[in-house]
Amino acid sequence: MFGLMMDTPLSIVSLIEFGARYNGTVEIVSRTVEGPIHRYTYRDSFARIARLARALAGLGMREGDRVGTLAWNGHRHFELYYGVPGIGAVCHTINPRLFPEQIAFIVNHAEDRLLFSDLTFLPLLEKLAPALRKVEKFVLMTDRAHMPKTGLRDCLCYEELLEGTADTYPWPTLDERAAAGLCYTSGTTGNPKGVLYSHRSTVLHALGNNLRDSAGARAGEAVLPVVPMFHVNAWGIPFGAPIIGAKLVFPGPKYDPESLYELFHTEKVAFSAGVPTVWIALLEYMRKTGKRLPDLRTIGVGGSAMTQALCEAYEREFGIEVAHGWGMTETSPVGTHNTLLPREASLPWEERLRYKLAQGRGRFLVEIKIVDARGRRLPEDGVATGELCVRGPYVASAYYHDEEASRAAWDEEGWFHTGDVASIDVEGYVRIVDRIKDMIKSGGEWISSIELEGAAMSHAAVLEAAAFARPDKKWGERPVLAVRLRPGARASKEEIASFLAGRIAKWAIPEDIMFVEEFPYTATGKVAKRILRERAVAALSAAPAPAQAAQASRA
Ligand code: AMP
Repeated sequence: MFGLMMDTPLSIVSLIEFGARYNGTVEIVSRTVEGPIHRYTYRDSFARIARLARALAGLGMREGDRVGTLAWNGHRHFELYYGVPGIGAVCHTINPRLFPEQIAFIVNHAEDRLLFSDLTFLPLLEKLAPALRKVEKFVLMTDRAHMPKTGLRDCLCYEELLEGTADTYPWPTLDERAAAGLCYTSGTTGNPKGVLYSHRSTVLHALGNNLRDSAGARAGEAVLPVVPMFHVNAWGIPFGAPIIGAKLVFPGPKYDPESLYELFHTEKVAFSAGVPTVWIALLEYMRKTGKRLPDLRTIGVGGSAMTQALCEAYEREFGIEVAHGWGMTETSPVGTHNTLLPREASLPWEERLRYKLAQGRGRFLVEIKIVDARGRRLPEDGVATGELCVRGPYVASAYYHDEEASRAAWDEEGWFHTGDVASIDVEGYVRIVDRIKDMIKSGGEWISSIELEGAAMSHAAVLEAAAFARPDKKWGERPVLAVRLRPGARASKEEIASFLAGRIAKWAIPEDIMFVEEFPYTATGKVAKRILRERAVAALSAAPAPAQAAQASRA
């Protein structure tokens, strides 16, 4: 017997429709690529979203068609987030930091019919256009006054498209399972894989973000997603903010700490979220300038592990709460978030820290377990470690048009195997040990690169650290640590190694420590360990063998 309740499908457009109706005067503030700060309200935005929907329909976009975006966090990108799925098409956000060949691959794989782009990426598009076989038209996200001269074929102007169209739209009733968004995850091996979100998954994830205990944005506050809108829907923030009435602040193309600080400060931002690298840079900027952010209540940290040093600096030095979370493109992305239970929250700092460093507890609608190499469930005792598997209505069930990769990642019971190793304790706190492929196996012992990095970053002179494996004839693999020192700080390899001794197991003490000026980063702002490893291996083979070295030093 079925319940007698309405089957109203969940739809993305309902989020902004609600925002415009009930939080209509709340602002969206964007730093634009053209320069000035742009301000309007949810009500204004919804009217323009309707205009955009008409323009898209006028360009022949139909249900299921893919529309690509190459854009920063800004109001026009926000309009595409709603206008595209609103007419039943799929908003495919593309990471402009990927290699051009990867961008061409995913635009072709997604078969994007339209490609919207910020002015920043015009040179890239001019180069790539001949390879983008299915793209019928390019739309530059600017107004007529800023339209550049370009040889790009079939190039339109965003503001011109919206001109003269009516600001209401007869939004179609869509199946809530209809595809709405597409985001490719760039693995270090193989081609990028597409994760295809639905209206249903997007709305449920937005509601999850808005739970009071998820440490997210709140009514009446300003929220600034530092995480880009091309990285898993800016972690869902642009979908959750309109329904609670939080002001959205978009940083546009400027990610340097000074520009971010200025927006945080002038717009009185209370909640923000991003990867650790961004928070490390902002921290150093505030330390250097002596500036403070008294309005910033909480920062969400995810994408890579948060370290003790980062947590202590924000919470104790600056009085800003740090909320750790874990997720993946495949999990929409927030899979766990860390808001301490009352018991843990009242512990003394040292003990509390242990919990704060955990990636959090599973969220409602995200089922979690850890398994051994044969797929058998492991105990959740905080000790056993195994591969983290997830399942739920906003977890992907397959990759887009990639059967081989899908077969490898999902099992018969529908669990998605994340490739992350974790423990889960009795209260459900998940602690990520490492990505399976980043773990270092030395003489039969596993070394967690995350643990090693966290220990190194507790050294006062170390700003950032990355640990990775270097092949070793005797031990199979040995850990190498790359270190970026704080500006003006000094430390020798020996000092760091002896600092680590006693903090980590003896076999985990790095075989070598490399000092770097800048880390290489992946397209999503994580340290690119593959590149560091290649450098370390190259440096080792370039170094003279011990006998040669002895001769050289005698000569
Ligand atoms: P992506 O799909 O590009 O967002 O990357 C997802 C991966 O980032 C996960 O599988 C983890 O390996 C890593 N990750 C995300 N959040 C965390 C975290 N809080 N701690 C450690 N690793 C994380």
